[in-house]
Amino acid sequence: MKTVIVGGVAGGMSAATRLRRLDESAEIVVFERGPYVSYANCGLPYHVGGVIADRSSLLLQTPESLAARFRLDVRTGHEVISVDPVARTVSVLDLAAGDTVIEHYDELVLAVGAAAREAAGHPGIPTHTLRTVEDVDAIGALVEAAADHPSALVVGGGFIGLEAVENLVRRGIHVTLIQRPAQILTPLDAEMVAPLEAQLRSHGVDVRTAVTIDSAVSDAVLLTDGTELRPDFIVDASGVVPSIDLARSAGLRVGPTGGIAVDPSNRTSDEHIYAVGDGVEKVDAVSGEGALVTMAGLANRHGRSVADVIGGRDERNTPALGTAIVKVFDTVAARVGWSERQLAAAGRPHRVIHTHPASHATYYPGAEPLSMKLLVDPESDAILGAQIVGGAGVDKRIDVIAVAMAGGLTASGLARLELAYAPQFGSAKDPVNQLGYVADNLRTGTTRTIQWHELAAAREAGATLVDVRTALEHAAGAIPGSLNIPVDELRDRLAELPDGPLIVHCQVGQRGHTAARILDQHGRDVVNLDGGYRTWAAGEGRSRQSSMAEQDSAAGASV
Ligand code: FAD
Repeated sequence: MKTVIVGGVAGGMSAATRLRRLDESAEIVVFERGPYVSYANCGLPYHVGGVIADRSSLLLQTPESLAARFRLDVRTGHEVISVDPVARTVSVLDLAAGDTVIEHYDELVLAVGAAAREAAGHPGIPTHTLRTVEDVDAIGALVEAAADHPSALVVGGGFIGLEAVENLVRRGIHVTLIQRPAQILTPLDAEMVAPLEAQLRSHGVDVRTAVTIDSAVSDAVLLTDGTELRPDFIVDASGVVPSIDLARSAGLRVGPTGGIAVDPSNRTSDEHIYAVGDGVEKVDAVSGEGALVTMAGLANRHGRSVADVIGGRDERNTPALGTAIVKVFDTVAARVGWSERQLAAAGRPHRVIHTHPASHATYYPGAEPLSMKLLVDPESDAILGAQIVGGAGVDKRIDVIAVAMAGGLTASGLARLELAYAPQFGSAKDPVNQLGYVADNLRTGTTRTIQWHELAAAREAGATLVDVRTALEHAAGAIPGSLNIPVDELRDRLAELPDGPLIVHCQVGQRGHTAARILDQHGRDVVNLDGGYRTWAAGEGRSRQSSMAEQDSAAGASV
């Protein structure tokens, strides 16, 4: 039995090594067109920044080490250029020698990943993507060669673009970050990325959203907001598209998202060809439809499970949640499932919860603020997605929620999770439990909330906004036109409240909830501003910035 694997990094090498562990007698050949196999592409940006100083620590294996431990026939510098599914052969180009050979397979695994979606060319300005060890070598050389006051333009504010920005700043480069959408990190909602953008700006990064490259001439690029830049170099992180050339050459079915279509066992439309990783369309856990989710965990897991299938086991993928995390300087942002924007665009009913707990008990030193967002199906109470931004503890909470989603727990069910607690690590009511309490209050109608972006319309319709924080907090920054009655005085000052619907708010939503309960029990029609002043300020601030950026961009585009 001979298995040929195309692509020797995340998915491909997971498949090859698992297959060997299952079958000592299998013939396993891996073709990799690049010079390296099994390297840590997720670590690449950190070598640019000098955090991972030793380049060789990114290179996890070599063809020799893989031959020694796993008896794999790994051929780097070999590009598979076509597949003949009838003859069950691949044509392989030896890139150094220029020769093409035909190799037979019994089973074929395509683990060819995705290709960078490159922005327009920039004549005269060195431009690199950040995908491979060779890219990192090239960017490293540009950093070394840059002028006295070096500057770089990073195109794309997604996960890899943000990691590139941070690491270039570490090297003393002045970075301009441009992002075509109106916010960075679009898997998260606008109000959630506000702290990230603030963090970037506080490190001197020139963040420009709703902006792209208009034209490039000689040593300058003209942005759509009218700015002309002369960066020493450009890092192009404008996204990826599935590599499907080989799949097309084999006549394999490609899904509506543009990724190779596979069944839950990662079998393509040809029964002897499998595909895994970034090139493949996944099943989205929230919609049940095809989705592109280009993450290392899925590539590794599906690489392993495809080996199980080839080895004769009945192994099936679970749908993809899209769990992801990134750290930008001191701020960590993570998400799982769908965002509010996605749900709204799909017309899917959803309930939104914002909380702002501390990472651990505030009486123990070192607690850091978290901003959490939970998206809930109002009918079934199913968790549709979550986003968390903060410092310590973001990773743990997003993983707990990912596990809850995978296990089919409801949002209210989060309240009942028994999570490890000591003051250094969490709270007796962990931030995840607190999300569950809010979800349960909403599910049972114990409380009603309003979102930051719904506030203006509700006030226009006649609701009165009551700020239940202290007078000191109110003076330090308030939503214009709000009436300040601190929650502790509320019972005694009920007569001061005008007739009609009320909206209460505090700093993060918790005192607002108490105020809403008091007023509700006094017969008032009351809702609590979800996430309080903090969420409102983040959302409003972002909206103002993006509408200003859009105006600038439109003005720039028209000159
Ligand atoms: P890859 O790992 O990209 O491997 C595909 C291989 O196939 C390539 O080496 C390519 O040369 C080879 N190939 C393609 N065509 C051919 C051909 N015709 N013949 C021979 N060989 C071919 N994910 C996370 O979850 N967390 C992170 O923190 C994270 N950080 C990242 C940072 C960077 C800079 C990058 C680039 C990616 C990051 N990712 C991260 C994404 C993650 O690396 C990918 O999801 C994962 O590597 C995909 O695995 P794959 O096997 O599909 O493709």
